[in-house]
Amino acid sequence: MTTVEELIHRAYLNKLVGEDGLRIVENIPGEEITDERLAELTGISLNTVRRTLYLLYEHRLAVYRRKRDPDSGWLTYLWQLCPENFDKALQSETKRLLRKLDERLYYEKENIFYACTEGCARFVFDEASEANFVCPFCQGSLEYMENAKVVETIERQMIDLKACL
Ligand SMILES: [Zn+2]
Repeated sequence: MTTVEELIHRAYLNKLVGEDGLRIVENIPGEEITDERLAELTGISLNTVRRTLYLLYEHRLAVYRRKRDPDSGWLTYLWQLCPENFDKALQSETKRLLRKLDERLYYEKENIFYACTEGCARFVFDEASEANFVCPFCQGSLEYMENAKVVETIERQMIDLKACL
């Protein structure tokens, strides 16, 4: 995985299952593992581990198999990740991010920006002009702000993202 892929992967999972969930996923090995073992490995409560696993299951990112212990009769749940579905989920997440960046790029290119010299906020020309180029937050002055760097950053992020598809 490239760094960008890794970042999307982490951000996506973080949104889906949270910090603890991310740690749980990172501890699921290539083969099957029980929820109890995952709780041991991560030090995260069994309840949280189970909640995370079912959430992954609902999103088709994990599957489980039940096994009955012949002596005790207890059921054990053996869990596994679904790597192909992870790939698909990441692909659509990448496309979603690209669409957002594309909108942002358009906005940056279509507007002229003014920013408060005290650093409060940035405004598009119409907003700045309506405020008579005075910052509504601190009464400081609003000055023209070059956004070539912002555009460049967005374009670079888009290239990196496209490389993940
Ligand atoms: Zn200000």
